[in-house]
Amino acid sequence: MTTNESTSTGATVPSFAERAAAFARAQGRPPFVSADLAGTPMRVREELVRWHGPVDEVGGGEWVDPGRTVIEVPGRTWPAARPEDCADESHRGIWFDADGREVPDVWAPGAPAPIVLLCPRCGLDCT
Ligand SMILES: [Zn+2]
Repeated sequence: MTTNESTSTGATVPSFAERAAAFARAQGRPPFVSADLAGTPMRVREELVRWHGPVDEVGGGEWVDPGRTVIEVPGRTWPAARPEDCADESHRGIWFDADGREVPDVWAPGAPAPIVLLCPRCGLDCT
């Protein structure tokens, strides 16, 4: 150890995105690139999602890219605590704009630009 190296208290902890990217690389997959939420009130929930939806007979729900996760939207509580417990069968997402507001019809004249498409029950990023 050199004098420049820090001990356990000063170690740099990789970010969630870095850890997810490393996990994806270890599986031979390209890392997931999430929507850029900088400047919006929305936040990424920094938890790896193992699958989405009910477990099927094979033993897992819908495949989720490592790093694809829940987006927290201010003022909105997702009915499902986590994607692994999600029972959404609509297969329709909800679009949100940069202010974290729902965009009911992205094709309507004057509709704000949607930036993320989220599962209506668990908030999983489906963009
Ligand atoms: Zn869901």
